[in-house]
Amino acid sequence: MKTYIISKTMTHLINKIDKLLAENYGDKQLIKHRDPVGELVNTILSQNTSDVNRDKAFNRLKERFPEWEQVAEAHTNSIKAMIKPGGLSAVKAPRIKKILNEIRNGNGRIDLSNLYEMKPDEGLKYLTSFNGVGFKTAACVLLFACGKEVFPVDTHIYRTSKRIGLVDDKADREKAFETMNSLVPGGIAYRLHLNMIQLGRKICRPKRPLCGECPLNKMCKSAFKI
Ligand code: SF4
Repeated sequence: MKTYIISKTMTHLINKIDKLLAENYGDKQLIKHRDPVGELVNTILSQNTSDVNRDKAFNRLKERFPEWEQVAEAHTNSIKAMIKPGGLSAVKAPRIKKILNEIRNGNGRIDLSNLYEMKPDEGLKYLTSFNGVGFKTAACVLLFACGKEVFPVDTHIYRTSKRIGLVDDKADREKAFETMNSLVPGGIAYRLHLNMIQLGRKICRPKRPLCGECPLNKMCKSAFKI
């Protein structure tokens, strides 16, 4: 009974947060699904960099190697040179090459359309079996490319969900991912994900959050305390 009451309260809270953020940042709808392999590479490139630099790196890579087969066959240094604007190219280049080869070895070609048929949990298990693919990357591929109801927890959502009180203060990334995915109801994952990131970037910043301007300050357990 206790679990049911907590769960119901938290679901109500999540829906309220979604509504307030949608009023402030917009009601976003996922329309066009991207190619899952492209989404996977794009998400790996996004690690520890800005969206602008990620896009520069991705576009340079695709201009030099229009087919994923070419990336899989390319020398690591050539990949590294193309994705340099995205940072951490020495880590990301061999990771991308290795994953593309692993996909080809498993599927016979570099194609992840098998994800469309999988349930979210199966998709998560499958994608995280690749070296260097964590829950956040896997969730981004499933949500953005396949339209599955999976809620990715990035660095902004990890911080804000703890401050608000949705996730336990001591939770690690994996636990935070599990908690948020048990709380977010179907149909709002895409909008809430993007709007929570926007909140984290603009208002609930790592240092000196702007609680006075925050649309969630009446329901946040950390409001005006940081
Ligand atoms: S009220 Fe303050 S701490 Fe809470 S979510 Fe908003 S900005 Fe972050």
